[in-house]
Amino acid sequence: MCAQKQIKKRSLLSSILNYRCPRCRQGRLFTYKNPYNLAHNTDMPEHCEVCGQQYELQTGFYFGTGYVSYGLSVGFMGVFYTVCYLLGWVSLADNSIFYWLGANATLLIILQPVIQRISRAMWIAFFVRYDPEGGPVRL
Ligand SMILES: [Zn+2]
Repeated sequence: MCAQKQIKKRSLLSSILNYRCPRCRQGRLFTYKNPYNLAHNTDMPEHCEVCGQQYELQTGFYFGTGYVSYGLSVGFMGVFYTVCYLLGWVSLADNSIFYWLGANATLLIILQPVIQRISRAMWIAFFVRYDPEGGPVRL
């Protein structure tokens, strides 16, 4: 039996999708697991529980996540339109585009808490590099 704790090494994509600290890819970025806990959707601890990385690098650090969220939403719309087009559910020749717009808006509203969290995880990953042995990054 191994007495040492086995540390799972995550990829960048896995750490973003699992909302993990970009420095060690182990600690949780958000206080609560469920993104649909809307009152506490963006609650984050001040520091990583594993490596001590500060999560809000400066005041208003997460304002920039709007750019990431916009990009993710537009990307989702493109993929959703392509899938619907290939399945023959939407066409520019009739009024089906309006049904698609309604379905797309509904899906984006439902997915917004998840997109918001992924945007934050991507935003902090832009500034903090993976270095589990190094000290925390401070701006
Ligand atoms: Zn960490």
